[in-house]
Amino acid sequence: MLDRIDLLILDVDGVLTDGRIIYDSRGADVKAFNVLDGQGVKYWLRVGHEAAILSGRASRTIRIRAGDIGIEAVYENAKDKLPVLEKILKRFGRAADRACYIGDDLVDLPVMARVGFAVATAGAAPEARRMAHYVTRSGGGAGAVRETIELILRYQGRWGDVLNRYTDQLPDDLPALRRPRKEQP
Ligand SMILES: [Mg+2]
Repeated sequence: MLDRIDLLILDVDGVLTDGRIIYDSRGADVKAFNVLDGQGVKYWLRVGHEAAILSGRASRTIRIRAGDIGIEAVYENAKDKLPVLEKILKRFGRAADRACYIGDDLVDLPVMARVGFAVATAGAAPEARRMAHYVTRSGGGAGAVRETIELILRYQGRWGDVLNRYTDQLPDDLPALRRPRKEQP
C-alpha cells in the first residue's frame, strides 16, 4: 500500500497547526506552523512526489505558508471535501490509492475513506482515528506531517536519499556514536 503513495494531501487546522486559530484585533487569523513539518514537505517534494492542501477554511495565512514550503495546489473553503479531493486527483493524474490524506475531524472522514493511506493526528477526533490506517504519535502542528512523510519515505527506501544529502557533508573522522544511522537507498 505505502509503496504506491506519491501524493500527499494535507488538512490545515489540527494537522499543519495544533488547531488553535488566533484572531488579531482586526479579525485576521494567526496560525503557528511547525518547521519540521515544513522541511518534511520540502523533502517529500524533492524526491519527486506531489503535495496539496485541502482546507475547510480560507485564510491568507494558509496561502503564505503553502508558498513557503513549495505547495502550489491549495484548495480552501472546502465545506464538502470529497469533490475537491477528486479535483486534486485529476489535477495530478493520480488514482485515489496513490494518495495519502492527513486529517483530524469528521469533515475529513469521506476523504480518509477514499484514499490509499489515511492518517489521523494524535489529537484527532476518535472517529477520524478509527478510520485511519495510521495515527501519528505527534500532534497537529507538532510534527504529525513530518512523522507521516518520514514513515512513507522510509518504507519506500527514499529517506536515505534525503538524509545522505546532509550526511555526505559530515567529516569522515566523526565518532560513530555521533553519526546518524546509515540509510540504505
Ligand atoms: Mg482539521
